[in-house]
Amino acid sequence: MDKHQLTKNVKNWLFEQGMDLVGICPPSALEDEPEGRRPTDLLTCVRSVVVFGRRLLNGAVQAQFRRLEDGVKSAESIYSTYGLELVPNWTMAATTFYLADYLENTFGAATQPLGCGPEMGTLPKNTPLPMFAGPNKDGLVMNIAHAAIAAGIAQPGWNNFPITREYGPRVQFGCLLTDLELVYDAPDDGERLCDPEKCRVCSDRCPMRALPPKESGEETVWRIAGREYAVAKHNVNACTVAALGMRSEFAGIRDRGDLVKGMDPTDAEIAEGIRNYEISNCNLDHYPKCYCNVCQIYCPVGSWAETFGPLRQTKEERN
Ligand code: SF4
Ligand code: SF4
Repeated sequence: MDKHQLTKNVKNWLFEQGMDLVGICPPSALEDEPEGRRPTDLLTCVRSVVVFGRRLLNGAVQAQFRRLEDGVKSAESIYSTYGLELVPNWTMAATTFYLADYLENTFGAATQPLGCGPEMGTLPKNTPLPMFAGPNKDGLVMNIAHAAIAAGIAQPGWNNFPITREYGPRVQFGCLLTDLELVYDAPDDGERLCDPEKCRVCSDRCPMRALPPKESGEETVWRIAGREYAVAKHNVNACTVAALGMRSEFAGIRDRGDLVKGMDPTDAEIAEGIRNYEISNCNLDHYPKCYCNVCQIYCPVGSWAETFGPLRQTKEERN
């Protein structure tokens, strides 16, 4: 089949599965990824990297606003169920699985479906963390956030998220490698969606100061598809304290005491804290969590004001 028609089929299939964004990049766009985490390391015959995204439900994000702004602790389970973990992860994993099945059965393609998670912004560097832990799911095989940028469906955000024109950083991404030759999309070189010199929402609002402001000069450079992008030097360990509710002030309805002493723990302290997590029957991985994601849900890109402005009024503002 002609590669243009094949590309159309693949994209249409994904849109029919409910994906909101689909892009394709060549494996060479990710050649600056670390050894063992490049597409060619994972599927030697790879010709195309297919990346797809589904927006977070507005209702799930709204639930997190209620928790953060009105102190409605019970709302956090809505966000974890419908915004982050349970439903989005399973549906995205299922979409990735069925895409692989479709391409293998219909076109005889070689594929490799990649694991996915809600946040995949940085690279593994904290080996003591188990793969589910940390806001960046450090155990993921390939950096799908970088793939989304290479495939033109997102730009890098100062907050270390891939940011989309349509939904800002409130998108979950999945990815599949295949030997099919498809038509590639170019990275989005248009006007930058995130200008951290003008917008300081993520760095100002981060409760852990884990995202330094632009003027601090504390940056990390992402090299993707021959381009260089500066993003905040994210303090993953500090972020983990809030994202996993490892201290009482972040633990929501599941106050489990302070699992780490300070606000910027070492890898070993986090690993020890994780070992002391109680086991839960309420989560698939049996570890209760308390997500932060302030830097994701308050980012103004992507019709934020129109979508969430009226919804996120506090009780006081409404009365
Ligand atoms: S998830 Fe929370 S603690 Fe982590 S960087 Fe974002 S705002 Fe900061
Ligand atoms: S909150 Fe502002 S500075 Fe942070 S990623 Fe979004 S647009 Fe960029």
